[in-house]
Amino acid sequence: MAAPGLRHGLGRLPEMAAALRRWNRVYSTSQAFSEMLRLPQKQLTRILYPLRELEAHLVADMSPLLQWRLFDPSLEDIKKAESVFTATPRNRIEYLSSAVRLDHAPGQQQPEVCFIGRSNVGKSSLIKALFSLAPDVEVRVSKKPGHTKKMNFFKVGKYFTLVDMPGYGYRTPEDFVDMVEPYLKERKNLKRTFLLVDSVVGITKTDNIAIEMCEEFALPYVMILTKTDKSSKGYLLKQALQIQKFVNTKTQGCFPQLFPVSVVTYSGIHLLKCFIADITGSLK
Ligand code: GDP
Repeated sequence: MAAPGLRHGLGRLPEMAAALRRWNRVYSTSQAFSEMLRLPQKQLTRILYPLRELEAHLVADMSPLLQWRLFDPSLEDIKKAESVFTATPRNRIEYLSSAVRLDHAPGQQQPEVCFIGRSNVGKSSLIKALFSLAPDVEVRVSKKPGHTKKMNFFKVGKYFTLVDMPGYGYRTPEDFVDMVEPYLKERKNLKRTFLLVDSVVGITKTDNIAIEMCEEFALPYVMILTKTDKSSKGYLLKQALQIQKFVNTKTQGCFPQLFPVSVVTYSGIHLLKCFIADITGSLK
């Protein structure tokens, strides 16, 4: 017969095995990052620095994207950022709470970043990809029409909170007036707003509402181009240049560098994580 202490330990075996499996999953993902660094240069650039890849499609003397590439971190920093986004017992990454009103939002002790975009732009897919090294995090999606949309808060260790804002679409006015607008206007710890634009569709009328709001509140915001795997390089370049022109000529608060991403090829995801880690002071 097993001693009581051992019995207690045995009783916890399934729990421990599950924790170990989770740890192995995370470990193998970070191992995958090291393995990724051994990819041929061209392939690695495509994944880690998508703008550089796009630039390669421009004629040398007309590379307007070049001068706008302001955030160009080292592989070392990208790797550091991966550890910020990797869940471990000492770096807990977890769903915190949901809120329908700003006064239900959690405290403002940590820096915060938020993600906004119209429904179907790829917001939940992107947030899931950002949390791929935190397999226990469940990105909740409520897409049923008429279903209450909420702001979902996630805690990333001691570093920052990430907020998934309700997608805007046909119910835009109510959602924005009730939730998004007060949040953007009043949230003191909000360091950066990430505005998602579908790279296939370009900037739509509804996107413009969000852009105008960011501009009106003088928020620092960043435009992310989603679903970049869906187009040919030529079409993507055309779209990127058009959106870049818009950012340069029509906005004040938008960061002058676009962030193209794809959750299918994983292109741009590491760079985005590194940017988030950088602006929240998590790389120090
Ligand atoms: P949300 O409504 O903004 O949260 O959008 P979802 O994340 O649910 O994505 C909407 C649709 O776009 C889904 O069918 C996704 O599979 C698809 N999608 C999202 N991101 C990508 C991407 O990077 N590439 C491709 N090809 N499809 C994507």
